[in-house]
Amino acid sequence: MAEDSKRYNDFGDFLKNIFPYKVQKISVNAGFTCPNRDGTKGRGGCTYCNNQTFSPDYCHTEKGVGEQLDEGVGFFSRKYADMKYLAYFQAYTNTYERFDKLIPKYEEALSYPNVAGLIIGTRPDCMPEDLLCYFAELAKRKFLMIEYGLESTLDRTLELINRGHTHAESEEAIRRTAAKGIYTGAHMILGLPGESREEILHHADVLSALPLTTLKLHQLQLIRHTKMAYDFSKRPGDFHLYEVDEYIDLVIDFIERLNPSIIVERFVSQSPKELLIAPDWGLKNYEFTAKVHKRLAERETWQGRLFTPAST
Ligand code: SF4
Repeated sequence: MAEDSKRYNDFGDFLKNIFPYKVQKISVNAGFTCPNRDGTKGRGGCTYCNNQTFSPDYCHTEKGVGEQLDEGVGFFSRKYADMKYLAYFQAYTNTYERFDKLIPKYEEALSYPNVAGLIIGTRPDCMPEDLLCYFAELAKRKFLMIEYGLESTLDRTLELINRGHTHAESEEAIRRTAAKGIYTGAHMILGLPGESREEILHHADVLSALPLTTLKLHQLQLIRHTKMAYDFSKRPGDFHLYEVDEYIDLVIDFIERLNPSIIVERFVSQSPKELLIAPDWGLKNYEFTAKVHKRLAERETWQGRLFTPAST
């Protein structure tokens, strides 16, 4: 077993192996929409989604990509003069637009001084082949990661939360993207309503069989002004909102089953306090991560301890 700090495959080390300098993600809201909101796939969006939660204060839609980068880079460069940046197209569905409108936004970010690459968040059902071919070419000259929101591997759950796509579509998008040599990430929400503890942990087995570079785990959060918040107010018994220590043991059980080659980028997400109904753990990301490290050491365990290729 490796030293304590390396009990899981860490995103910081992944970046250090690629870049010989510090890199920081800067969120960019390019003003795209989402097919699950505009009626193409559905209306109202995923039941947990209030898109305001994605955007830091500097990230307003009326501002252009360059202007948002100015503000984000300005913020960080005061502290670290030699830092470089990854433009993170995070809000909504960042591949859902006409090709001739998408590419200039990506290229604008790439031409910004000290931007070393892009991270593009999107849905698994929004990756047309021509765009994927553009990304494959881009990945040869710049850092590029495509992050897919999966949230669950169970179709029953995807339907319940109104995702508007199936798990088969998630798998197909991940395989097509990775096959083009592009770093491929996934988001999952742990604790969605109707999923048992064993079903949650089984997601790790399913994901382990996929050609994923990175994985972000998020706790289920109830966000104001969402359909899920309304459902919770009507049927609280359908939900299990984790206490922090209980969730830490859940994520450790999860990564024990996870393929050790997958980089674990996050364990939690933090929605703005004014939008969050529950759970409010009052912990910053780094504080939560420190608790995971401590608990991994106490349990003398590590990512992939229970993973066997046959189990996938
Ligand atoms: S979570 Fe993403 S896919 Fe779902 S409604 Fe919100 S922006 Fe659209």
